[in-house]
Amino acid sequence: MNLQKFPRHSLTFGPTPIQPLKRLSAHLGGKVQLWAKREDCNSGLAFGGNKTRKLEYLIPDAIAGGYDTLVSIGGIQSNQTRQVAAVAAHLGMKCVLVQENWVNYSDAVYDRVGNIEMSRIMGAEVTLDAAGFDIGIRPSWEDAMERVKKAGGKPFPIPAGCSEHPKGGLGFVGFAEEVREQEKELGFKFDYIVVCSVTGSTQAGMVVGFAADGRADRVIGIDASAKPEQTHAQILRIAQNTAQLVELGRDISAADVVLNTEYGGPEYGLPNDGTLEAIRLCARQEGMLTDPVYEGKSMAGMIGMVRKGQFPEGSKVLYAHLGGVPALNAYSFIFKNG
Ligand code: PLP
Repeated sequence: MNLQKFPRHSLTFGPTPIQPLKRLSAHLGGKVQLWAKREDCNSGLAFGGNKTRKLEYLIPDAIAGGYDTLVSIGGIQSNQTRQVAAVAAHLGMKCVLVQENWVNYSDAVYDRVGNIEMSRIMGAEVTLDAAGFDIGIRPSWEDAMERVKKAGGKPFPIPAGCSEHPKGGLGFVGFAEEVREQEKELGFKFDYIVVCSVTGSTQAGMVVGFAADGRADRVIGIDASAKPEQTHAQILRIAQNTAQLVELGRDISAADVVLNTEYGGPEYGLPNDGTLEAIRLCARQEGMLTDPVYEGKSMAGMIGMVRKGQFPEGSKVLYAHLGGVPALNAYSFIFKNG
């Protein structure tokens, strides 16, 4: 495997910490050891998160190509667009964001607080668009590109979740390499890695990275898109492309992509009772916050799998915390009583 041949522009603090979730593990019966790798605090750029790690491999092309405007798309409370806005500010570039109506949720302040508020503060041009949830390429995004060109700018396109970008999977191949180094220091290997999946390139990168030491199917994706067939197909496609890019030396098949579809409902962006229970339980046992759109669902998935005995006794499980906490502000109504 050859990840090193790709240029990387550092946007993160370095390897993210891995910490034991001792109280949560004990609370759930103590038969499985839960750990967390903290991508949610990976950078000083507007709180960071999984997109910041992915962007490290996209930004060299933006710089080398003389692009002056980063253009991206997401939902109104998109973490991706907040991270793109932060990276643009950090690099002295402009930022144009299309924020679509991906979530059937209305809170009086939904389009004013959290991620979107931060993007505006960082100087991004934010356009709200009425289109609904879709993880593919969107016309509104192509319109934004045209607008920048007409105004004399040079737009650098960053698709939703970085996922449709050919290099979108590379960052999380690097995550696997980082975990392997950290495992040497810890003196053991993780049996399972739990990760939230929506647009797919996070899990896809991990599948390729962990395929290098035979653990592709130990990456347990928890679907938070509530459109799992589309998400599974997208993870597989991105993993296959990424495997070729890094010269993995073997093909990725559908069996390598494990996606648990029990925890994503009722819809993208809407928590179910289990999501809310998991958010509160993790916060109260560990002081570790998760959000109703993404990590609350993957946390519910990990907790649910422990409770159902789906991890063999003695397993060491690594929870990839991918960020997303700023969106909590947009769901203030749900938590008004704690
Ligand atoms: N967790 C958070 C906080 C996210 O912002 C995202 C982005 O979609 C995900 C998980 C899912 O990652 P991916 O889109 O690469 O599947």
